[in-house]
Amino acid sequence: MSMNSQGRPTTPHVPSASEVAQTHTGNRALMQEEPLLFELDNPGVCGVDLPEPPTAELRLGKVRPRGTLALPSVSEPEVVRHYTRLSQKNFGIDSTMYPLGSCTMKHNPRLNEKMARLPGFSDIHPLQPVSTVQGALELIDALAHWLKTLTGMPAVAMSPAAGAHGELCGLMAIRAALAARGEAHRRRVLVPESAHGTNPATAAFCGFAVDSIPAEDDGRVSVAAVKAKLGPDVAAIMLTNPNTCGLFEPQIREIADAVHAAGGYFYCDGANYNAIVGRVRPADLGVDAMHINLHKTFSTPHGGGGPGSGPVVLSAALAPFAPLPYVVHGEDGFRLVEHAGEAEGHPFGRMKGFHGQMGMFVRALAYMLSHGGDGLRQAASDAVLNANYVLASLKDVMSASFEGPCMHEALFDDRFLKGTGITPLDFAKALIDEGFHPMTMYFPLVVQGALLIEPTETESKQTLDQFIGTLRALAERAKTGDEEYFHGAPRLTPRRRLDETAAARKPVLRWTRPAPAAQAAAAQAAAE
Ligand SMILES: *Cc1c(COP(=O)(O)O)cnc(C)c1O
Repeated sequence: MSMNSQGRPTTPHVPSASEVAQTHTGNRALMQEEPLLFELDNPGVCGVDLPEPPTAELRLGKVRPRGTLALPSVSEPEVVRHYTRLSQKNFGIDSTMYPLGSCTMKHNPRLNEKMARLPGFSDIHPLQPVSTVQGALELIDALAHWLKTLTGMPAVAMSPAAGAHGELCGLMAIRAALAARGEAHRRRVLVPESAHGTNPATAAFCGFAVDSIPAEDDGRVSVAAVKAKLGPDVAAIMLTNPNTCGLFEPQIREIADAVHAAGGYFYCDGANYNAIVGRVRPADLGVDAMHINLHKTFSTPHGGGGPGSGPVVLSAALAPFAPLPYVVHGEDGFRLVEHAGEAEGHPFGRMKGFHGQMGMFVRALAYMLSHGGDGLRQAASDAVLNANYVLASLKDVMSASFEGPCMHEALFDDRFLKGTGITPLDFAKALIDEGFHPMTMYFPLVVQGALLIEPTETESKQTLDQFIGTLRALAERAKTGDEEYFHGAPRLTPRRRLDETAAARKPVLRWTRPAPAAQAAAAQAAAE
């Protein structure tokens, strides 16, 4: 066995089948079968010992409790172990590389978390008098200033709660601006084929007709293709830059000019802003509205689909229609403009009950202040460099979809798997056994069997080399036609291939207590 300079083996010891112990419990060390919390129910057990509450008169009128809440009775150590074990079953950015393209899964610095937990931010309530939350409003204002400065845009709506919500905010501002111009008849929104699904969904939700623009062979949108679609009924174009193929749209300025000349607005999907922060100002590209996913570009966590935050920067043409509420700085400090009557412009309405995702604002500003403008620019450059390193290191064994360098993500397709009987899904599943989260699969749709890899600036060269080495080995194994290996992956996870469609379409959301053994036996006897 070869050893490194510290005397440690350089290759892991892989136990043979005979060495893998058949354990008494079925558990494999920390890999344990975890029941539901309700299945752990042990009636009578309680984590706390409180005095009997005094009997009080029921003040709920006719609303009377029908029974107990049927919450599980579990001791504190059992609860802690339950959730700790569940958390260990999760792939997360804190445990492994998470190269999910389009999602920008980057490190969440602990400094951000510490700041977000300061009681002055975490213990306040949105209905508190504004005189008592001046610091929080100042923070929202400071973050807005950073976003406007980085993008070169004059205004920003802070309240949208995610990228898709930001798209809705942008299109509602566009709809309001068109109505104010007396051009509510403009009902068509142009969306390139490669767009994220939220773009056409948002446009349709807003009552627009979606008109798809085909991509060129080089994965980009051409000004000619856009011009061919323009007309007096076009409300806007929704364009992503860098696009979902990980490519910069070089004709973006000409496209913006053409759309403006035709009387439409330019909505930019800014989900990929991580690739260009500090290097390109969206204002200089002719953008009218762009959402910024704070949970992608500015390192706030993506926990289980939320909470995200999707502030939308707006051009001078759309700024008057920004939603309520927003922060202003007056003579006696900061306050929130809550009503259309006190607003300067014509707010189209409100996206959210309150001012937005405060915890995400704190984290994003902490990230900005700790990096500084130059650090943000460096992060963007490193993200692009890392993606190109992956692309260049793999393109001889995997099929790169487009010629030349990429931006922040490397796109491959399934041509390298042709004739092997192995699908991109099988290939990605094999990566799980190797300790990496799979890349994004089958997106963008413009490429057959897409595999989209976004390493972000988080990953070191050592990690990237390990990842690249793993993918090279898997690609070579796939080419030997070892179908069985890939079809059987993953093998080392608590669950293997799940029926994801059934899980989405027929989710089991309710746990019902199994009948006590005697009752079940009686029911079975009756059935027989
Ligand atoms: C992530 C993403 C979105 C949607 O953002 P959410 O914050 O997930 O709602 C939209 N467009 C692109 C290109 C994305 O990558």
